[in-house]
Amino acid sequence: MGVLVFVENVEDELAAQALTFARGIGDGAVAPVTISGDYAPAAWGQTLADIATERSLDAVVAAGTERGNEVLAHAAAILDQPFSANTTAFTPGSPPTVTRVRWGGSLLEEAVLHASTPLMTVAPHAVVPDGNPVAAETVAPSHHALAVAPTKRVGATSTDVSLQDAPVVVSGGRGVGSAEGFAIIEELAGLLGGAVGCSRAVTSAGWRPHTDQVGQTGTKVAPDLYIACGISGATQHMAGCKGAKKLLAINADGEASIFAHADYGVIGDLHEILPAIAAEIRKPRGA
Ligand SMILES: Cc1cc2nc3c(=O)[nH]c(=O)nc-3n(C[C@H](O)[C@H](O)[C@H](O)COP(=O)(O)OP(=O)(O)OC[C@H]3O[C@@H](n4cnc5c(N)ncnc54)[C@H](O)[C@@H]3O)c2cc1C
Repeated sequence: MGVLVFVENVEDELAAQALTFARGIGDGAVAPVTISGDYAPAAWGQTLADIATERSLDAVVAAGTERGNEVLAHAAAILDQPFSANTTAFTPGSPPTVTRVRWGGSLLEEAVLHASTPLMTVAPHAVVPDGNPVAAETVAPSHHALAVAPTKRVGATSTDVSLQDAPVVVSGGRGVGSAEGFAIIEELAGLLGGAVGCSRAVTSAGWRPHTDQVGQTGTKVAPDLYIACGISGATQHMAGCKGAKKLLAINADGEASIFAHADYGVIGDLHEILPAIAAEIRKPRGA
């Protein structure tokens, strides 16, 4: 009995959130596991399905990250069970109900979960961690299902801070103008101890990797400060950054819809404004 929790990284705040969510299900017993070796979504899903079956676990939970959602979707298909992605609440019952984030964050849905083994990922930052230490048993992947193996690894190009957990995200849109134009975005992110994000216009142009994309089909972020530079404010972009505590928009067009969402706005050319902000931050204090 208990809840199987797929943990990608014990250091990650999202793992603590998923474990806290899992402890709220059933009698509070959890079985956290990490899976060793290279990422192989089908094999990792098979591994979770095997463990859930062998140990007769009541539910399977993971953080609602790209990998969490992908691996649990495989596990759900293998177990022939429904899967609730980006869940914010679980109410026990026969059957239980879940609340989950839909349509890129524009609505919350309540759904009844008809499942013998519910599978759920937890929407990032929907749960406050209970403070218990995060530890997990490392298990080997089910090798019989290892159909996919990586042939090449491409390193992240952003700053060292992860986009999802960064306290500050400096994000660039089409207005940045080129891949090289991101040097000033990177500089400001570095000065603020933050991460670089971008819009889909940017990833579509090949200026930044998809891992930097914020939005409905990218990463959902919830920093203390989100600085949107040359981003118009499309619904699909805002779906990824509306969790930010404060939003600063820098845009040449005073009519851009991003300003309707912004706490602070600067109308002007980002190529002038960002270097000016960076220069101000670099100034010795008291100068
Ligand atoms: C199914 C679907 C999913 C999507 N998912 C996502 C997603 O996850 N993330 C996402 O971002 N988009 C997503 N999109 C795309 C989205 O609809 C927009 O097309 C995209 O966000 C626009 O990117 P942008 O704001 O950078 O570009 P634009 O809309 O072209 O805006 C560029 C902005 O830059 C400003 N600008 C230009 N030059 C300067 C300058 N020198 N200084 C300051 N400002 C300047 C302009 O005034 C303009 O407001 C999705 C679309 C669909 C249909």
